[in-house]
Amino acid sequence: MSEIRNNWSREEILDIYQQPLMELLYRAASIHREYHDPNTVQVSTLLSIKTGGCPEDCGYCPQAARYHTDIEGNDLMSVSQVKAQALRAREAGSSRVCMGAAWRNVKDGPEFDQVLEMVRTINKLDMEVCCTLGMITENQAKRLAEAGLYAYNHNLDTSEDYYKDVISTRAFEDRLETIDNVRKTNVTVCSGGIIGMGESLEDRAGMLVALSTLSPQPESVPINALVAVPGTPMEEMEPVSIWSMVRMVATTRIVMPQTQVRLSAGRTQMSREGQALCFFAGANSIFAGDKLLTTPNPDVNEDMEMFRELGLNPQAPFLKKEQPKTVEASESELQPLGEKPRWTRPGHTIPRNEAARN
Ligand code: SF4
Repeated sequence: MSEIRNNWSREEILDIYQQPLMELLYRAASIHREYHDPNTVQVSTLLSIKTGGCPEDCGYCPQAARYHTDIEGNDLMSVSQVKAQALRAREAGSSRVCMGAAWRNVKDGPEFDQVLEMVRTINKLDMEVCCTLGMITENQAKRLAEAGLYAYNHNLDTSEDYYKDVISTRAFEDRLETIDNVRKTNVTVCSGGIIGMGESLEDRAGMLVALSTLSPQPESVPINALVAVPGTPMEEMEPVSIWSMVRMVATTRIVMPQTQVRLSAGRTQMSREGQALCFFAGANSIFAGDKLLTTPNPDVNEDMEMFRELGLNPQAPFLKKEQPKTVEASESELQPLGEKPRWTRPGHTIPRNEAARN
């Protein structure tokens, strides 16, 4: 078995990324087969449970309140709405539901209690539950774990160096701190990033250094290609080429052999052949559903047709880790602490973010 290393350097990763493509594919596909069934792909459904109106300034995101996009905001969905969507997702072949809320960080109170109830409800449907709610404290992570959360998503987005050119309302360390809080529980970590934001190859490698040197490495790593949404600071970015995507997926697979590598945003821009190449290079998870939070995604039927054509099977839930138990709210021993953590607000100026705001 290829060894799992937590000491990759940027130079080593850059060398892997820049290998001749056939060498890179062969190496990634070989490692992939050591750790995973190459014909099994996890299908996750991403559900935006609270859309838009976010106070953060992520330069790629149409949900930031400060940019002028066409996103229709929504208040937090009800538990019954979420349950209905989860049942539909399960019927369509998904084994995981990932609930996303456009928050900077979680605040204790009725809305978080409602999310905890959503977690309990979906876990009882025997589906893996993931949440992406922004920054969380250790106590909040423990309350999510107690409700039956399987995974928490918190993307690093890009390299530490480039982070300050993308976001000014929080710092890279805040991301690491939230991941650390999740690691104090049994909840698995999902963390990845976005390519095509104007970053250099060194930044792509830098992001993979940051992820692969986490110990343990994240159980899942989503690789997104930027969807340049009109009205966001990155609206004019060039689309990511399929070759960059394949190289990024293959490199991720090599440096994180055990992780589920997920093709995420930007799949509509990829041909079926391109996606097949990504699966060959080690991707073994996709986000399904017509929308990824707010950006378009291939139709579920199209995905299932692609699976049939490529002979792929959807992954069963809880294949990699057993189902967590759900503790009911009435039996919980954990109380909200009403903490007000001092998450960082660097507040520096990012010219393209400022230009998009005006
Ligand atoms: S990426 Fe998340 S935190 Fe950033 S603006 Fe969008 S919703 Fe807010």
